[in-house]
Amino acid sequence: MTRKKIVILGTGGTIAGTAAHASDNLGYTAAQVGIDQLVAGLPTVAGQACEWISEQVAQIDSKDMDFGVWRVLAQRVDHWLTQPDVQGIVITHGTDTLEETAWFLQTVLEPDRPVVLTCAMRPATALAPDGPQNMLDAVAVASHGGAHGVVAVCAGVIHSARDVQKVHTYRLDAFSSADAGPIGYVEEGSLRLMRDWPRDSVDKAPSAIKNIADLPDPASWPRVEIVMSHAGAGAGGVRALVADGVQGLVVAGTGNGTLHHALEAALLQAQASGVRVVRATRCLEGRVLPKHGDVIPHSQGLSPVKARVALMLALMDAA
Ligand code: ASP
Repeated sequence: MTRKKIVILGTGGTIAGTAAHASDNLGYTAAQVGIDQLVAGLPTVAGQACEWISEQVAQIDSKDMDFGVWRVLAQRVDHWLTQPDVQGIVITHGTDTLEETAWFLQTVLEPDRPVVLTCAMRPATALAPDGPQNMLDAVAVASHGGAHGVVAVCAGVIHSARDVQKVHTYRLDAFSSADAGPIGYVEEGSLRLMRDWPRDSVDKAPSAIKNIADLPDPASWPRVEIVMSHAGAGAGGVRALVADGVQGLVVAGTGNGTLHHALEAALLQAQASGVRVVRATRCLEGRVLPKHGDVIPHSQGLSPVKARVALMLALMDAA
């Protein structure tokens, strides 16, 4: 089967942002330009065999990402992946929560073809916008025969959904894969791969989600919140969340997942009362390594925001 189509789904972000002045890379409004217009602005690439299809799934600043958009996005990706002539999917997305969307899609879809999130740090109206090149690079990855799974492409770097993290507030190369390193690079439309496309034992779709079309109403998704350990941390925040009916808590611990004693006591109490608690680290690199006697389970290397997604899906399974 020759796969002939690349589907480009728009969700908003800075890549679709506009500012009053070309020199303004900060005072812009995200999510203004439609995906058709973004795609129309791309040059046709000599030798590009695939047809591009674009679809607007959402138009938001990704700081405001919510479960409703995730559900529709997962369903549209799933829909397109059931078409045998679709080679791969590109999703334009804001940078702020890109890593969370990437992890959510990887976990619920485990796609056998490439699903490539891309973004921009400068709005579409900038003097030198980075979005068009990022989109072209993402199309190159989505067109790559051997690629599979959800990945992110930004500034010529290909990151796995599991490892990608936004690490810079302003630089065009705003993402890192930390210890794992990138999957590879896109150079003038060609891929230079540094490692295999990821197959990760933790990337297991929740068994509750048999059919993406039947993803439950977001209002019923389990409530999981993130708390952080820090100097002077106390019990009040956790107690308030438990009283408010939280079902899961991810704690961004210090160092190797260590916790201020007052916060730890509150978390242990929450755990004893039936709230699921998971320990991640606020360190950008490394993972929480388990040690004998740990009572609060670690996040299996997931950052706090991805551990939150994983716990939410696990709770959906347990429901
Ligand atoms: N706030 C924007 C967003 O996440 C930032 C960006 O896209 O770079 O949508």
